[in-house]
Formats: sequence, C-alpha cells, structure tokens
Amino acid sequence: MDVQHLVAQADAAASIASVHAEDVDAKGRFPAEAIQAFRSSGLLGLLVPVAADGPGASLADVANVCRILGQACASSALIYAMHQIQVACLIAGAGEGAWQQTFLRRIAVEQLLLASVTSEVGIGGNIRSSLCSPEIDIDHRRVTLLKHSSAISYGEHADALLVTARRHADASASDQVLIVAEKHDVVLSETSRWDTLGMRGTDSKAFDVRLSVDAAQIVPVSFGELAQHTMLPTSHILWGAVWLGIAVEATEKARAFLRRQAQANPGVLPPGGIRFEKAASLVATMRTRLESATTEYARNPAKDLDALPLGFLAEVNALKVTMSELALDVVQQAMMICGIAGYKNGTPYSIGRHLRDLYSAPLMVNNDRIAANTATLLIAQRSPLLRGSIP
Ligand SMILES: Cc1cc2nc3c(=O)[nH]c(=O)nc-3n(C[C@H](O)[C@H](O)[C@H](O)COP(=O)(O)OP(=O)(O)OC[C@H]3O[C@@H](n4cnc5c(N)ncnc54)[C@H](O)[C@@H]3O)c2cc1C
Repeated sequence: MDVQHLVAQADAAASIASVHAEDVDAKGRFPAEAIQAFRSSGLLGLLVPVAADGPGASLADVANVCRILGQACASSALIYAMHQIQVACLIAGAGEGAWQQTFLRRIAVEQLLLASVTSEVGIGGNIRSSLCSPEIDIDHRRVTLLKHSSAISYGEHADALLVTARRHADASASDQVLIVAEKHDVVLSETSRWDTLGMRGTDSKAFDVRLSVDAAQIVPVSFGELAQHTMLPTSHILWGAVWLGIAVEATEKARAFLRRQAQANPGVLPPGGIRFEKAASLVATMRTRLESATTEYARNPAKDLDALPLGFLAEVNALKVTMSELALDVVQQAMMICGIAGYKNGTPYSIGRHLRDLYSAPLMVNNDRIAANTATLLIAQRSPLLRGSIP
C-alpha cells in the first residue's frame, strides 16, 4: 500500500486511541483498541522495505505517526514507537538471513507486534550489557535462554520478543546477540506488576523469559553494531516524536484555555499568555531538533558517526536528553496556564495525564546514564567540538 495513504491512516487510529486514552490510563490496561486499529490499517508494517513486501516508509514517516499518536494516547504511541524500533533493528540486522527475511515479510503481511527485552535484573538501563547467555545445542540447532527481565512493555500482547543476551557463556557482557522469539517459542513468568505514575497502558511488567528457538532466529548482525547504528538513533528519534506529540497536545489545551479567557475579556492578554509564548517556542525547538536528527540520520546511510556537529552518537544522545527535558518543561507551562482546570482530572484542560506520562521520559533510559555516555564520547573525541559552518 502507498506510504502516504498509510500515514494518513494515523489520524483515524489516533482518534480511536484518543477515545480510550483515559480508560487505558485509569485502569493501567493495554490499549487493545488502538493496537487493533494499527493492525487493521497496516500501520504496524510501515517500515518494512518494499523488497520484503512492505510499504518501505522512512523513519521520518514513522516519526510523524508517533507524533500524531502521542497527541492522542501516549501509551499507544510509545508502544507503536517501541515496535517500530524493533522492526528497524530487524531490517538493519537481517542481512542475508533467510529466517529473518521471511519474518520481515510476515511483519508486513500478518501485522505482527514486536516487543523488546533489553533490560535485565542486575544491569539497570545499560542496554550494552547482558548477564544471561544462551545454551546452544549445535547438533539440533536449538538455542535456549532464561532471562530475568526487569520490564517488557506489552510483553504478553506481543507476537514476538527481541531479546538481548551474551553471545555464549564465555562471552563478555557487551558481546551480545539479538534473538527473535515468537510467542510460541516463549514462556513468560510475571515477576513484577506495572502500576506506575504514567505510561500505564504500556503494561511493562517484569518477567522471567524462557525461550527455545531455532539457531537461525539469532539476528546475524551483532547487537553491538545494531545498538549503535540503529537501536539508539531510532529509539531517540521515535521516543522524541512521541514526547513532542504529548507536548503539542498539552499546548493545544493551554491555547484553548487562553482563547476562552480572551473571549471573556476581549482586548486583554490573558495572564498565561506569556507562558504560552514560551511553551510554543519550546515546541518549535523540539520540532527543529527532531527534524534535524531525523534528516541527518537518513542522509548518512553508512551511519557516519562523525557526520553531525557533535559526532552522530553524541548528537542523538543529546537529542534524547533535550527532548525529554523540553517536553516536560512545555507541559509544566501548560499546567501553569490552565491552573486548577489543568490540575483537575476530567476537564477539557486536564494536563495531569500528560505530565505523568512524560515523567517516564528522562528515566527511560536514565538521562544521567546517557549524559555520562555522551561526556565520555566527547572527551575522547580529538576533533573540535563544533564542525561545519552555519548554513
Ligand atoms: C515506560 C517504560 C517502558 C519500558 N519498556 C521496556 C521494554 O519494553 N523493554 C525493556 O527491556 N525495558 C523497558 N523499559 C526499561 C528501560 O529501558 C530502562 O531499562 C529502565 O528505564 C532503566 O531502569 P532503572 O532506572 O532501574 O536503571 P538505571 O538506568 O540503571 O538507573 C538507576 C539509577 O542509577 C543511576 N545511574 C545508573 N547508571 C548511571 C550512569 N552510568 N551514570 C549516571 N547515573 C547512573 C540513574 O541516575 C538512576 O538513578 C521501560 C521503561 C519505561 C519507563
């Protein structure tokens, strides 16, 4: 199906997500209606390349969908973003692997939903480290693994999990592989509930994951390479798009509140007017940062790590930290503008859910951890801090 036609479906899917957003948040339940809408409109396969019978949308297209969904229901939007990050990793990592290529086709045709199992008890948010390692039965080409995960969003609702592990029992913690396990390959045993401040509909419970798969289900490209070239940039871009959507929605509520005040008192700038200028300008900054990173990422098919002014990895890390902080700042401004009408639940100006959802942004993966990684990269870099000229 035509990419633009599919992207246009995002508005209809967002309307469905929006109708159920309050209930999803209140009950902390999986947004089944929204995910069904993604499935039936073909949005789950959006990134799958034309060569694998998909529409072959760009990351920018997917980011747009994430932003639209973020305005409607943050949990549904984050689920969509996390799914697409896994699809991007498979596209980048499949190589000539026949199993992976067939699986990519199936994502487009069957509209499979993929979830991620990088976090592990004992390693915190460091995705480049694994404790668990698979047992490999070389004769029968079977791989078995037990992973004590600390959070798997929509784990029980996914059609497949992409699980990181050390390559083998003697491999170092950072010598990792990515294993694709379909629902029927996995037994999940819940070890912790997901009753959180926000992003309640992502249903990110902790599980012990036991899997048994064919050896062909190990992604051919190493996870180290995938993390650096694909998972980090796409995560930071698509999460950022979701957070931008939430910030836009809160700003629109603040605008509606101010317009109502302005109508009641024509010719007088409502008290929150100056804060609105600040919120709108922060939203514009977020949009520019996101567009710039997405464009640069698309422009560098070799994922040249030095292509951006701070070096690519430092730039996409900074993007995540900045987007998560700016989005929270915007929503706090919106709360100040709407006052008690924003603080209350159930008004047309309620901001609470947006604020609670966004508090996950600096923690997912912790901004301090990301900033420490970026600082290490920048200090090690020999070239000047800013390269290139202002266009
Ligand atoms: C909404 C949501 C959905 C999620 N979904 C998934 C999922 O589907 N799959 C999955 O695998 N994971 C998922 N996660 C988990 C996520 O990816 C991270 O693993 C998790 O947020 C990190 O948890 P943490 O705070 O315990 O760990 P850490 O990042 O280790 O942070 C713990 C504390 O240590 C500090 N800290 C640790 N290391 C450093 C450092 N190097 N420098 C400075 N400070 C440091 C931090 O400041 C923090 O106070 C999800 C998380 C959220 C919020």
